[in-house]
Amino acid sequence: MALKGLAISGGIAVARVCLFNESRHSSIPIYTVQSAEVEKEVERFRKARETAARQLDAVRADVAARIGEAEAEIFVAQRMILEDPTVDAQILDAIRKRHANAEAAINTVLDAFEARLQRMDNEYIKERASDIGEVRRRLLDILHQVAPSLQCGDADYCQRGRNRIVIAEELTPSLTLGLDTEHTMGFVTERGGVTSHAAILARALGIPAVSGIKGIHSLLACGTEVLVNGDTGEIVISPSDRTVARLRAGAKTRIRAPKPEPACAELSVLANISLSEETAEVIEMQAEGIGLYRTEFEFMAAERLLTEDEQFERYAAVLRAMDGKPVYVRLMDVGSDKPLPGVAVENEDNPSLGWRGARFLIGRPDLLATQARALARASAHGDLRVMYPMITDRRQFVKLKGLFREAVAGLRKGRIRHGAMFEVPAACLQAADILKSADFASVGTNDLIQYLFAVDRNNDRVAHDYDPDRPVFWALLKQIADAARAAGRPLSVCGEMAGDPRYVRKIREAGIDRVSVSPRLIPEIRRVARRLCGGRPRARRGGARG
Ligand code: PEP
Ligand code: MG
Repeated sequence: MALKGLAISGGIAVARVCLFNESRHSSIPIYTVQSAEVEKEVERFRKARETAARQLDAVRADVAARIGEAEAEIFVAQRMILEDPTVDAQILDAIRKRHANAEAAINTVLDAFEARLQRMDNEYIKERASDIGEVRRRLLDILHQVAPSLQCGDADYCQRGRNRIVIAEELTPSLTLGLDTEHTMGFVTERGGVTSHAAILARALGIPAVSGIKGIHSLLACGTEVLVNGDTGEIVISPSDRTVARLRAGAKTRIRAPKPEPACAELSVLANISLSEETAEVIEMQAEGIGLYRTEFEFMAAERLLTEDEQFERYAAVLRAMDGKPVYVRLMDVGSDKPLPGVAVENEDNPSLGWRGARFLIGRPDLLATQARALARASAHGDLRVMYPMITDRRQFVKLKGLFREAVAGLRKGRIRHGAMFEVPAACLQAADILKSADFASVGTNDLIQYLFAVDRNNDRVAHDYDPDRPVFWALLKQIADAARAAGRPLSVCGEMAGDPRYVRKIREAGIDRVSVSPRLIPEIRRVARRLCGGRPRARRGGARG
């Protein structure tokens, strides 16, 4: 889903989101202070104001050192609001004359000032209104001893804004600076213009930001992946790998990416790619290999069938670049929503149950043979493992492997391993049988969820039902992992859910210690895995590896 807002700080970022809860003061305490307690209430206000002044001085000094003197002036301006004699007099009046409690007095007085500036017909002055709001929130935070919080706060996958895109109602300067901004990937807010102080800070820090996305909190759950384009003001919710790859290819500026995280003993994390040029990012993210190379995208990007030589160049380049690390290349997975350019397919009533994946390859042995030859030649350049898509049973897998081997007989080649993708429930239920003939397997959860729950993976209307987190799914995954362990065959999960930090724990508990995810998600998945296992190296590796 793409939404258009206001571009307030340039650059592009793709990351998962953290939702900041800015509505923490939506119901402040309001009560009447007893006459005898009025001076105590005045004292509460004064103490809060002194603390706020000290905090603002500290923030000012921090910004001057981290960013620059000009940006630090924002906090001098906020201190002036805090100590403005008119504001001060009105708050004291409210406490002394109307016996308002400090919170209510601060709220009413500063709200009125803020609203007055908001009504001005001048964008610059309107933006200054947000400083008043920020001073108000700071005072209330001090009185209540709270800080801006995250909606996902307690979840074990929460990154507290680190390597995340921060979602907030408004990008206040304090929120911008209170974060570990070195690791903040981007900002998306409901309010705030180009001249807001926070936008100035985001630009100074080089963090892409988009504002003016109404109702963003209700559209996103914590952990959803979002693409922020601070150059165009567009955000894309749950962008596909293709959208990201296309943008990366055309972007003038580098896409802001998380810092790589070294490999961890708890979970092997490999990378999913669609095009050979994505290998650079795979290496940058220190992936332990390529766990899924969706070769059909090479044809789709070229908008035609590729010759054997053209395919060879792409596959060999990937294998060479990966320098001996395993590369799981999936034979073209054509059909359904992935038409092969140059190959006409009759209209089907039910394309996702039609001529696709393994069935297509059996139906077009000529195309399979060309790809097999290109792969066999490339196998001399690295560690090649060939994956067969949408396998239903052992007979079908053996047939395809036979066609592959026939096509490459007589060619000079390296060692090639052959494995099945488990995406069809029937194949999963026969995992032990299929693994008698396969060297390895990988669970394609995108399709498996679709077929297990009879829910279209591409239909927004039923998206709420596209949810793997149900006992039957985990039981099936465990059954496959048990079969792989018993057969001594390596097993991985390469569907999108493997890149979702919410599922790392359950994937590990199902007995799987290898996943393949979009390269940009590798650091976070490794961090979560390491945290779940207490950072300790695993004592004994499971059998389902290799
Ligand atoms: C899957 O189905 O999980 C998978 C990895 O294949 P694709 O998403 O390309 O269908
Ligand atoms: Mg699939």
